[in-house]
Amino acid sequence: MEVKLLSYTLNPKKVIYSAARQCYSKISAYKIYTNQEKLDLEKLKKFISHLVKRGHLSPLEHVNFTYSATGISRVCTHQLVRHRIASYSQQSQRYVSMDDFQYVVPKAVKENKEAEENFIEAVNYLKGKCRQIREILKKNPQLDKEKINQDLRFLLPQACQTKIVITMNTRQLLHFFSERLCLRAQWEIRELSARMLPLAKEVLPEVFDLAGPKCKKLGFCPESADDCPLNPQKK
Ligand SMILES: Cc1cc2nc3c(=O)[nH]c(=O)nc-3n(C[C@H](O)[C@H](O)[C@H](O)COP(=O)(O)OP(=O)(O)OC[C@H]3O[C@@H](n4cnc5c(N)ncnc54)[C@H](O)[C@@H]3O)c2cc1C
Repeated sequence: MEVKLLSYTLNPKKVIYSAARQCYSKISAYKIYTNQEKLDLEKLKKFISHLVKRGHLSPLEHVNFTYSATGISRVCTHQLVRHRIASYSQQSQRYVSMDDFQYVVPKAVKENKEAEENFIEAVNYLKGKCRQIREILKKNPQLDKEKINQDLRFLLPQACQTKIVITMNTRQLLHFFSERLCLRAQWEIRELSARMLPLAKEVLPEVFDLAGPKCKKLGFCPESADDCPLNPQKK
């Protein structure tokens, strides 16, 4: 899995500050934004972390983060795209040939030789069948490559690797991390979110230092996970 930060909103702290101050100010956000040279950076940082602690989160929605994630499975992206307050652009299995697709082997499978052999055998079987069916369908002049690809997708396993661009605003990222850094979340999406967090933290530590699984903010585990080392009630 590779996760990179492609871009984020220019001057994120200034944008959050101007939006938050707009709520209580007679002057425009533009004036607040452009007058900020005079603003003490330390005060700005404190102001932003105070906003997050108070739960005044709408100003965070004006700052976006765009990531590129590759080498993750369709299992992972299926869960990811359930987060609706976001934008996604995902590699197509119709326009990009999946004839020799790469795939993710879960750690538990990899650690067991017999399980791994069976897993790889099953994937190779599907690959072989896809090739065979492609050869058969190619004989039909009405079916071009894309039409064949789109039907062969029905046979592709969820282990298939994919590439996706993700844009989330800062508030939604906090929510995403709270759900997916939880040890109850599935391991691959947890790894994805664990890789996304430090990249966001580098840009906005005053916000993302407060990010973490939902128990961090709640002070208790809503899943009642007695076996979880992060459960605040177990510490
Ligand atoms: C550990 C775990 C297990 C899960 N298991 C399952 C499962 O078994 N089956 C399953 O189907 N899903 C499962 N999910 C997915 C889960 O139900 C959510 O769909 C997913 O986490 C997206 O998060 P979200 O619903 O908070 O909303 P997001 O789409 O991330 O939106 C953020 C917030 O915006 C608000 N919001 C967004 N859209 C609406 C709306 N239409 N109406 C009202 N408020 C809205 C909500 O407050 C929401 O929390 C699981 C998730 C986790 C973390």
